[in-house]
Amino acid sequence: MVLSSVLGFPRIGANREVKKAVEAYWGGKLSAEELTKVAAETKTASWTSLKERGVDLIPSGEFSLYDHVLDHSAAFNVIPKRYVGLGLSPLDVFFAMGRGRQADGVDVPACEMKKWFDSNYHYVVPELSEETDFKLLYNKALLEYNEAKALGITTRPVVLGPVSYLVLGKAAKEASTGFQPISLLPKILPVYKKLLSELKAAGVESVQIDEPVLVLDRAADLDKQYATAYAELVPVAPKLVLTTYFARLDTNISFIAKLPVAGLHIDLIRAPGQLDEVIAAIKSTPVVLSLGVVSGRNIWKADFAAAIKQGQKAIAALGADRVIIATSSSVLHTPVTLASEKKLTAEQKDWFSFALEKAAEVATIASVLSGSQDAKVAAALEANKISIAKRREFEATSDDAVRKRVAAITPDMYNRKSPFATRKEVQAKHLNLPKFPTTTIGSFPQTKEIRTARAKLGKGEISEAEYDEFIKKEIEMVVRFQEKVGLDLLVHGEPERNDMVQYFGEQLKGFVFTQNGWVQSYGSRYVRPPIIVSDVSRDAPMTVKWSSYAQSVTKKPMKGMLSGPVTILNWSFPRDDVSRKLQSQQLALALRDEVIDLEKAGISAIQVDEPAIREGLPLRRSDWDEYLEWAVDTFKLSTAGVTDATQTHSHFCYSDFGDIFPSIQRLDADVISIEFSKSDMKLLQTFQQYGYSNQIGPGVYDIHSPRVPSEQEIIDRLKTTLSIIPDHLMFINPDCGLKTRGWKETEASLANLVAAARWARQNA
Ligand code: GLN
Ligand code: ZN
Repeated sequence: MVLSSVLGFPRIGANREVKKAVEAYWGGKLSAEELTKVAAETKTASWTSLKERGVDLIPSGEFSLYDHVLDHSAAFNVIPKRYVGLGLSPLDVFFAMGRGRQADGVDVPACEMKKWFDSNYHYVVPELSEETDFKLLYNKALLEYNEAKALGITTRPVVLGPVSYLVLGKAAKEASTGFQPISLLPKILPVYKKLLSELKAAGVESVQIDEPVLVLDRAADLDKQYATAYAELVPVAPKLVLTTYFARLDTNISFIAKLPVAGLHIDLIRAPGQLDEVIAAIKSTPVVLSLGVVSGRNIWKADFAAAIKQGQKAIAALGADRVIIATSSSVLHTPVTLASEKKLTAEQKDWFSFALEKAAEVATIASVLSGSQDAKVAAALEANKISIAKRREFEATSDDAVRKRVAAITPDMYNRKSPFATRKEVQAKHLNLPKFPTTTIGSFPQTKEIRTARAKLGKGEISEAEYDEFIKKEIEMVVRFQEKVGLDLLVHGEPERNDMVQYFGEQLKGFVFTQNGWVQSYGSRYVRPPIIVSDVSRDAPMTVKWSSYAQSVTKKPMKGMLSGPVTILNWSFPRDDVSRKLQSQQLALALRDEVIDLEKAGISAIQVDEPAIREGLPLRRSDWDEYLEWAVDTFKLSTAGVTDATQTHSHFCYSDFGDIFPSIQRLDADVISIEFSKSDMKLLQTFQQYGYSNQIGPGVYDIHSPRVPSEQEIIDRLKTTLSIIPDHLMFINPDCGLKTRGWKETEASLANLVAAARWARQNA
């Protein structure tokens, strides 16, 4: 019989109850017991619904109140010293590591967070050193397994594997130079042995052991570590299903196939082509193959026919007992259920599957492959066939005008009319900015008043006209403030934007929005990604009204503000019937029109933010060039339609440019602003080394903290920066937008920034 499995489930609860409870606990409005109760109820609801939908292998142990990697660190005693001895409960230590803590005389910053592979989920990075004293403080997988068992539900515990856990970690401050976290493998294995043998003793049949690092190029050098680890763990553990996701195993399969594990899970959504190769590699072993045929990363209904075909191929080679039908990864990256969507049309609802619907999908596909004669299964199969056909029909009615426009893109559309050196002179005259121009990244504090006004508009409590008046007042206030504090290149402050992607999605054709489609970004922060459902185009200008109003109330130059094509794409659920490249091209053409309209409206500087270009980078290096080519091209397509006199800007919230530097250069933005206040000089040296010749604004202070940087601190920062970046290329700006900041610190920080710029003009 073919079994079905779901690799992990959203933790938010169908009505965001976990998010709300966690935040209430932080706010002192809920006790730890009450929080635990909400968590238990949510887990119960998830397990029960998965069971009701017929899933055979139900996950446990992967639930988290913040992040599963953080849970793992907390359980394994990987707790940095700064959180120990503060008199906090284990739960508060856990949250302090996740988000920092500043109360009752305790003041500790959070641990570093990093993107979870190529997703928008962030994990808390384990800090490791020679001193790390791994201990199993509690067995979370076992606790949750027993919790489910008490409800009469048998689950398959999920454990993050030892090699991936260590590789995802970083060297702690106290580690000696050259320390590699993976060197701790011999020390961590005994703890894993204890964890797994406890599971075995409790009667657990099999464990999903996540080793996502196996899809990375660097896993090729970890073959020995993998061999050692699994040779030690397998004898004491329940059956281990080695679980990989997000990309292909590639040549790593040669050593993976030799590991003594009972099962292997592969992602056939991201890498459908790897099936033959993997089958061939494991055919002569007893390994069970788990086929990830239902996407854990996107919200489209699975195409049963395609999934069944892959299942049949695996069954023909391995036999039904050696095949599992699964989600491609945890469905953590999708919203809980379509059932909560009241505003989608019946046609739209028929296209999608969220986490719970995906659970039903794996169960149905597995039943079909097991030869089920059940009428319900037959009906589900038939219904899927009809849904998929309808979706294909809808896709076929593409917007011809948009398709033709993409087909007609010519190479010259990617390039500005003149090279940067020429543009720089024209722009200097046109914009008349001083030496070391000061500017900001776009947003100003999004106050409670702004959010209230937006909510009122949503509920129809104020009219569109009243809302517009309110926004205009906000803009004018932000402009006056910037004039007063003495900034040179102004912004309108983005008060009209709920979110830098949603705002554009709502105004473009081709997007659909959910009411309750929350997906975890980090901790209690959830986003509601828009869904791209068809060809994208722009009906009318999206930002011109606001930018030109802002320009009309000042004599200083105003910078227009847009989100770039790659960022809009990466922070949405993309279509799966056409390439990401095509979707990005369509977005770029829409943005190109906007950029040209802004220029026509008298806006002489236009910023197109691309903070997500880097996170969209494929996991396998051999796929980078192809991605970077279209990603950079589409950015250029969106910005290159203007005359030499218009200054284009772009912004990146990161600074690890080293490996993609040539692409940043190829963007050919007149000015780029980057995160720099927390980075070392290596970054600027990269710019120097590559002879970066356009203008650049390395962020001079960190906007993620309410801390006000002193004038002297900013001057010191500038001094180091100016030792590398030529004077005439320097802009002075903060690290990122100010929307999460309060006004008080914003005023003080920007005043110091302007003062530091004055110092630079006189002294540098
Ligand atoms: N212009 C945006 C802002 O200032 C940029 C946000 C971002 O980089 N994430 O808010
Ligand atoms: Zn940013």
